[in-house]
Amino acid sequence: MARKKIIAGNWKMNLLPKEAWELVDGLKEGLVIKPLVEMVVLPQTGLLSLVGELLQDSVISLGAQTSSKYRNGAHTGDGSPDLLRALGCRYALSGHSERRQDHGESDLEVAEQALSQIAAGLKSIVCVGESLSEREAGSYKEKIAAQVKALYSTVPKELMGELVLAYEPIWAIGTGKTASPEQAEEVHSFIRSQIAALAGEAVANLTPLLYGGSAKADNAASLMGKPNIDGLLVGGASLKSDEFLKIYQAS
Ligand code: PEP
Repeated sequence: MARKKIIAGNWKMNLLPKEAWELVDGLKEGLVIKPLVEMVVLPQTGLLSLVGELLQDSVISLGAQTSSKYRNGAHTGDGSPDLLRALGCRYALSGHSERRQDHGESDLEVAEQALSQIAAGLKSIVCVGESLSEREAGSYKEKIAAQVKALYSTVPKELMGELVLAYEPIWAIGTGKTASPEQAEEVHSFIRSQIAALAGEAVANLTPLLYGGSAKADNAASLMGKPNIDGLLVGGASLKSDEFLKIYQAS
């Protein structure tokens, strides 16, 4: 069965309300819908209500950049996945490398976050990937295998269908250096084999695997031309409607 494609825009800590409004307007105006490709935007938490309202009459999905591993309660400053769902989010990221770096999120915490997002009714896009030194040392598969194992040991089988994985080599994020389609495909196919070993072939075949790391309009088609690349997680290039729409059209 063909997997649906996902093009997700990670706006990171960018855009003030007026800029977000203009970006959403541009996306809504220019979007030529492809039935098998879902566009998702991931604004920072403070913009979710506004962007959720703006997307009410649109097929573009809303997602968050992170959430607490707890559903609610005494966790000052954290964000409840239940609230994200109530604000209209369909997706949430978990374990973006910037969060792992800035907040010391471990593989287990990332997996717990993903579980709590799914329990709240969200689809969790879990980011995995290696640093430049791990790539150069040739240990990238071990790193990714450990991240995938923590996830599939934490999320129960009946909820695994709500997971999306994003391979984001840290050396390619925001650097302008994209993994080649061959490098990305090698890791995607490895991730799928790891999922199959941990969760079975059926789960592995159904799970969308996104690539992220300096994806742009001019490399989107070649990346997504690979059999195990089911979409893109896009940072910088998602902040301009024209560029992001071209990436969507390339899928
Ligand atoms: C990201 O932030 O997830 C990302 C992939 O960023 P960029 O596309 O800018 O490399």
